[in-house]
Amino acid sequence: MTVSGGASWLESLAIRRAQGLYRHRYVLDSPQNMEVVVQDQRYLNFCSNDYLGLANDPRLIESLQKGVARYGLGAGASHLICGHFAPHHALEEDLAAFTGRERALLFSTGYMANLGVIAALAGTDSLVLADRLDHASLLDGVRLSGARWQRYRHGDSADCAQRLEKAATRPVLIVTDGVFSMDGDCAPLPELAALAERHRALLMVDDAHGLGVLGDAGRGTLAHHGLGQREVPILIGTLGKAFGTFGAFVAGAADLIEWLIQRARTYIYTTALPPALAEATRTALQCVMTEEWRRVVLRERIAQFRVGAEQLGLPIQDSLTPIQILMVGDNQRAVQFSEKLREQGIWVSAIRPPTVPVGQARLRITFSAAHRPEHVERLLAALASLYR
Ligand SMILES: *Cc1c(COP(=O)(O)O)cnc(C)c1O
Repeated sequence: MTVSGGASWLESLAIRRAQGLYRHRYVLDSPQNMEVVVQDQRYLNFCSNDYLGLANDPRLIESLQKGVARYGLGAGASHLICGHFAPHHALEEDLAAFTGRERALLFSTGYMANLGVIAALAGTDSLVLADRLDHASLLDGVRLSGARWQRYRHGDSADCAQRLEKAATRPVLIVTDGVFSMDGDCAPLPELAALAERHRALLMVDDAHGLGVLGDAGRGTLAHHGLGQREVPILIGTLGKAFGTFGAFVAGAADLIEWLIQRARTYIYTTALPPALAEATRTALQCVMTEEWRRVVLRERIAQFRVGAEQLGLPIQDSLTPIQILMVGDNQRAVQFSEKLREQGIWVSAIRPPTVPVGQARLRITFSAAHRPEHVERLLAALASLYR
């Protein structure tokens, strides 16, 4: 059997290995937490997106159990057939209120939300402008839409503006991550919003890593900049990260949501989330909004790490979010670093192409409100031994 390019599976796998691009899965045998168990070994975990430490929260688990007792397990159908339950509906209302938008619509995953929303809003007559470092799901959505598209330089609203000038009369959709998933830096949202307004372009922001973490009550990157539904008509949020559960949503104007219900194929042609999961997520949302201490602790850990890393002269990048990068460059070297940390009981993932550009393999370290100061100390000591 051959894969595209003509090589056999076996050959392609060997090539990947030689390039340091081979990917492994590690099997967890404990809940997601700041400490996890893999093959009877304990690891201090610095790679999950469970930023607020909610994934294993007893209150969420209790809500899920109560939800299962009341609504059973499977939704049994898609939302438009007979799978749209009261907890889904209530969660959508909660999320609309939380994000300050007229309505919200639940999707099964962020990946599906991005595919469905972009393909429902852009067509072959559209131009999509995407940040060079946008998440893969946004780019796949653009491809699926059949629109013409261009990538502007990362975080560069002037480059985006130049491309907008040339768009002539085409409808334009600008898509960007709020917080970039593999870098931790933030998009220039006020500038992009002003551009979108001036050129009558639509702006869509995927705030997967900002919601719950940034802004007043965890309302995300847009709230942090004071940008509402008028400035950013399309907001994507995911529920598997800071919220600690699973799923995703889009929030915006009532007629946008109605349109997506009619047209977003990844919404229409798939089974609804288990309703109990929506119950658990409603509880998670309450925790996100009311437990400001989680964001305070998180900021303290990030600051502790950055001060320590600077003292050690580690190659940290500009990021004030829980996503902290140590740039390595070479694929094999990034993997070796990750393995050496694992030998010391510390789990940090090596991120390699195509997730990041070629030559920019890195260690991606993520922090959680569940980390304690001594955990950060252990991480810093282990990193110091690597770079010595
Ligand atoms: C994780 C992520 C997604 C995908 O969300 P899932 O719910 O995990 O499918 C989408 N966009 C960004 C920016 C992400 O980081």
